[in-house]
Amino acid sequence: MTQTNYSGKVQRVAIIANGKYQSKRVVSKLFAALRDDKDFYLSKHNPDIVISIGGDGMLLSAFHMYEKDLDRVRFVGIHTGHLGFYTDYRDFEVDKLLEDLRKDKGEKISYPVLHVKLTLQDGRIIESRALNEATIKRIEKTMVADVLINGVKFERFRGDGISVSTPTGSTAYNKSLGGAILHPTIEALQLTEISSLNNRVYRTLGSSVIIPKHEHIEIVPKRLGTYTLSVDNKTFSHKNVAKVEYSLDSKKISFVATPFHTSFWERVKDAFIGEFDS
Ligand code: NAP
Repeated sequence: MTQTNYSGKVQRVAIIANGKYQSKRVVSKLFAALRDDKDFYLSKHNPDIVISIGGDGMLLSAFHMYEKDLDRVRFVGIHTGHLGFYTDYRDFEVDKLLEDLRKDKGEKISYPVLHVKLTLQDGRIIESRALNEATIKRIEKTMVADVLINGVKFERFRGDGISVSTPTGSTAYNKSLGGAILHPTIEALQLTEISSLNNRVYRTLGSSVIIPKHEHIEIVPKRLGTYTLSVDNKTFSHKNVAKVEYSLDSKKISFVATPFHTSFWERVKDAFIGEFDS
């Protein structure tokens, strides 16, 4: 290798992969290429760059491994299947990734992350970050909860639960729930109902709602019981939830700005539409 990466600083690189055969092959190739490279130092501790190998689900796991380091870390995703939303490279493009990392000038592209604050009846507070979404559901019975948008008591929800997603998460569970797809550069959060009860007696808006970056959402359960709070790929059960608040986090997730970053609309088309006769 002849070219020194940006600022001449050695880049600490963490490689995170799922257990698939193709992922292991990619890991071996990256290790062999970066191990003896003076510009890179392979380490899972305090990395500057995290390379996630697998799929969007693997990138979610990598995000949670390093969510405390969002200020310094940039992510790169290699997909061992289809194109993906958080992945710029496929498993047959490892050489291209290595070439791009060697030319890297430290540029990044950043997207909003969700901040979730759960308050229990006894006053305890549990805070988390989500890259895709956070959903609250009631386990035993219909969830009854007040929905407040920026302090306005908006509606009383009855149904299975509520999802609040980020722009990049809008193509995940949110889409299955009938939510809109948001371009990831739009700084907003989206509230989407999960099977709301709507009849003569009970009424919710029904459509998803998109909330700008400085506003917040509050869900106040009206019944005691066990609730599950799912944050991306992790689910937690809580008794006696007083409220859950959602806003955009002060930190964003950053990706290495790759020269051939596939357009968001290409990804949406590739994932959900495919080719069609024109
Ligand atoms: P997972 O296997 O990690 O992910 C489930 C599927 O969602 C995978 O095909 C994954 O793509 C895809 N995915 C993840 N993030 C995405 C995004 N931002 N845009 C489009 N597709 C995305 O499953 P998990 O560990 O249980 O949960 C992870 C995520 O799954 C959650 O954050 C939630 O969004 C999603 N989920 C969806 C539904 C649904 O659509 N009904 C239900 C539950 C959860 P890859 O194959 O590339 O990994």
